[in-house]
Amino acid sequence: MAKILVTGGAGYIGSHTCVELLNANHSVVVVDNLSNSSEEALFRVQQLTGKSLDFVQGDIRDSTLLDQVFAQYSIDAVIHFAGLKAVGESQQIPLAYFDNNIAGSISLVKAMERAGVFKLVFSSSATVYDEANTSPLNEDMPTGMPSNNYGYTKLIVEQMLEKLAIADTRWSIALLRYFNPVGAHQSGQIGEDPQGIPNNLMPYVTQVAVGRRQKLSIFGDDYDTIDGTGVRDYIHVVDLANAHLCALNNRLNAVGCRAWNIGTGNGSSVLQVKDTFEQVNGVAIAFEFAPRRLGDVATSFADNQRALDELGWVPRYTLEDMLKDSWNWQKQNPQGYSN
Ligand code: NAD
Ligand code: UDP
Repeated sequence: MAKILVTGGAGYIGSHTCVELLNANHSVVVVDNLSNSSEEALFRVQQLTGKSLDFVQGDIRDSTLLDQVFAQYSIDAVIHFAGLKAVGESQQIPLAYFDNNIAGSISLVKAMERAGVFKLVFSSSATVYDEANTSPLNEDMPTGMPSNNYGYTKLIVEQMLEKLAIADTRWSIALLRYFNPVGAHQSGQIGEDPQGIPNNLMPYVTQVAVGRRQKLSIFGDDYDTIDGTGVRDYIHVVDLANAHLCALNNRLNAVGCRAWNIGTGNGSSVLQVKDTFEQVNGVAIAFEFAPRRLGDVATSFADNQRALDELGWVPRYTLEDMLKDSWNWQKQNPQGYSN
């Protein structure tokens, strides 16, 4: 079994991935500066799995710290989640995004090179695709210039990693293009805990359900979709976590850099998400229609065939499961980890 460094492992997707790694008997070292997470998530990961992991609180831009980590642990591969992810904020403080996401990734791969570790799984996003593409989106479609600075950082890091793997064939890199991660571990012990007003649909819905927000604003009712609201490919965070294990396996005996879409291949509209949430959980979600949100596309969903064929990955959870698990987490933890 391998020793995996997980950057950003205390965060939403990172913590779920740590559970799956530990359950598969890998050993895990987390580096996280806790800028958007709580150490409590890592305590709960260990409780859930009955296994321990090593946690180093620190920043991926700190090369001395990374050298210490690589010297102390004989790391086989890195899963790189650490970074900032709020689209709106990235327009207000672009330098913080360039620094954490781009400079942070450069700092990490330089430390990996110094340590002789060349296997990397990177958290990318479907936002790298050119908006002119029509869904289902496949990996051969052109990338475009994302309309926000967050997406721009993902594109730049992808391109940088591709060029790195061409220049130096020791590298073996997986770019996982996530669609819309939602849901939580079935125990309800770990889940998504955004700071402040949620930007994303799912945590907004669960916060309305739990009484922290008054009503959901649905951004746009006149898109060319099934019911006029935006369509996205929601993927259960546990399925997403497992995609990282499949990608690691794939990269063990491969070189080069390759991208995979991680989505279910199904699109759901905002109204379908709201209605299904109400049905499966028996909770009403107050809502109003609001103007379209700047930068949103009508429809985005994945062609996930490449991941199915090459990674042997199979998403198992339905939209109903995602919405049940999101609610289970939120209702057990109304204030997230700060209960
Ligand atoms: P998250 O904010 O919950 O997790 C990111 C973690 O990284 C946090 O624990 C944070 O404290 C840590 N971190 C941030 N900057 C750091 C730094 N400089 N050094 C060390 N640690 C740092 O976010 P998430 O939803 O779990 O996302 C994980 C990754 O997946 C991110 O790179 C994100 O951009 C990407 N992604 C997320 C989504 C999504 O919708 N959640 C979609 C596509 C891609
Ligand atoms: N959305 C919404 N209200 C919200 C948040 C999101 O109507 O409070 C819509 C948004 O316009 C999009 C979908 O929900 O159609 C998913 O948005 P999210 O921000 O979760 O993910 P994105 O696909 O934008 O990354």
